[in-house]
Amino acid sequence: MRAGDPMPIAASPSVWEHTATSPRIQGAAPAGDVHVETAVVGAGFTGLSAAHHLWKAGRECLVLDANAPGWGASGRNGGMAVLRYKTGFAALARKYGAETTLGLHGLIQEAVDTLESIVTTHRIPCSFRRCGHLTAASSEAALAALREDVQWLRAHAGDDVPRILEYDEMARVSGTAVYRGGYVDPRAAGIHPLDYARGLASALQKAGVRIHGQSPVERIDRSGDGYRLVTRGAVVKARRVILATNAYTDLEKLGFRLAQRIVPVASSVIATAPLTDAQRSAVLPQGHLLTDTRKLTNYFRVTPDGRLLFGGRGDLLGRDVPASFRGLEDLLAATYPMLKDVAIEHRWSGKVAVTLDDFPHLGELAPGVFFAIGYGGRGVALSQLLGRLVAAMACGSAVAAGPMSGASFRPIPLHGLRVPGMQAVATWYRWRDLLSARQDRAGSVAPQT
Ligand SMILES: Cc1cc2nc3c(=O)[nH]c(=O)nc-3n(C[C@H](O)[C@H](O)[C@H](O)COP(=O)(O)OP(=O)(O)OC[C@H]3O[C@@H](n4cnc5c(N)ncnc54)[C@H](O)[C@@H]3O)c2cc1C
Repeated sequence: MRAGDPMPIAASPSVWEHTATSPRIQGAAPAGDVHVETAVVGAGFTGLSAAHHLWKAGRECLVLDANAPGWGASGRNGGMAVLRYKTGFAALARKYGAETTLGLHGLIQEAVDTLESIVTTHRIPCSFRRCGHLTAASSEAALAALREDVQWLRAHAGDDVPRILEYDEMARVSGTAVYRGGYVDPRAAGIHPLDYARGLASALQKAGVRIHGQSPVERIDRSGDGYRLVTRGAVVKARRVILATNAYTDLEKLGFRLAQRIVPVASSVIATAPLTDAQRSAVLPQGHLLTDTRKLTNYFRVTPDGRLLFGGRGDLLGRDVPASFRGLEDLLAATYPMLKDVAIEHRWSGKVAVTLDDFPHLGELAPGVFFAIGYGGRGVALSQLLGRLVAAMACGSAVAAGPMSGASFRPIPLHGLRVPGMQAVATWYRWRDLLSARQDRAGSVAPQT
């Protein structure tokens, strides 16, 4: 490094690792031959929710994870359980029709309710709070789309809880003047995601569910009327298998062409030092979670220990690279100029699984092999729901999840070319975000700061 070069910015343990009150759950690897009715691969939110619902139904199951429970996206995310899909309700209704969209509206409520019910059942100390979520309009067109959503929900779902915040109110509740307005849903919840994952794994272990960390499943072979899952030093024989490996599905080559149906994309996060009382009363003063409407979405919130957590697009290859963190620091300073001198104490990344239609999917890949993956940046609540639904499928129940059902979920053509493809899409999105901002400035439709 030459004199005058900026210091490289290194990744550090996440703020969740730093503040977790629940100890890391290892759960030793199994030994020898083990028999079980259902084997769940992956101990993130999806796998743990599936295990919880199998346990609740009195079914025998065992969970295997290549790492510790909560190691993947589940222990690294923003902890924001929101009641919107990536696409707004009015746009969904145009694409899928009113009836399907009503079904989706009901499912997303159920998703957050499922999270709350698991927290309550096991009394998991994870700072669960229905603190509300702001969808912040980054352009006039985005604000118009949010207005349509509010109208659609009132007219078709009888849901008059979400409402539009005009410019001044949005500036007041977000603590920043950069957005055109917003949409608020007070039913959204915030959690400490790593405490939730560890707390649930520990509660299930106490309830008698076998949870094995450090147990990468290296192969799944058909055997009689079930499957053999080969992991380090052991073979697990199971009648049924649930794959809950999401963006980390390519850790091992498990077959079934599941990894080819998603594109793993990195999301990076920074967190400041704890804010002072004055800063706390200026930044998201009512404790809301926030996601903006940019194509390359940013999300932020105040953590239970009073830091600003600020996340957004990371490196395309999922690496912890300085450029991702530097970009987030610049955006944080532009959004909250009063925090520009506050130290950034944590920087980390994780992978989300993006699908072509922006929905997660669940289904059956082969007789008795089920999956639930592909949440993009909306998995905190939806993984609880899909974990429940995939457990029901493994118990033999039929499940209706609209566009989230697996029928249309096929391997992506030219999946091998996903990296240059994503680079092109990211450039296009960045350009679209810039263009929207420029059009708004030219029209001068909202007060400028
Ligand atoms: C930085 C970041 C911020 C996010 N913020 C939000 C947010 O605020 N709100 C929101 O709704 N969503 C958010 N998300 C998305 C959300 O975190 C995920 O959708 C959700 O956690 C997915 O849970 P999962 O259990 O399906 O996958 P994961 O938690 O990723 O778990 C997959 C597990 O599978 C294991 N595994 C993989 N292969 C094998 C194998 N062969 N054998 C054994 N184990 C294996 C891995 O070790 C891993 O533990 C965010 C994601 C990231 C990365």
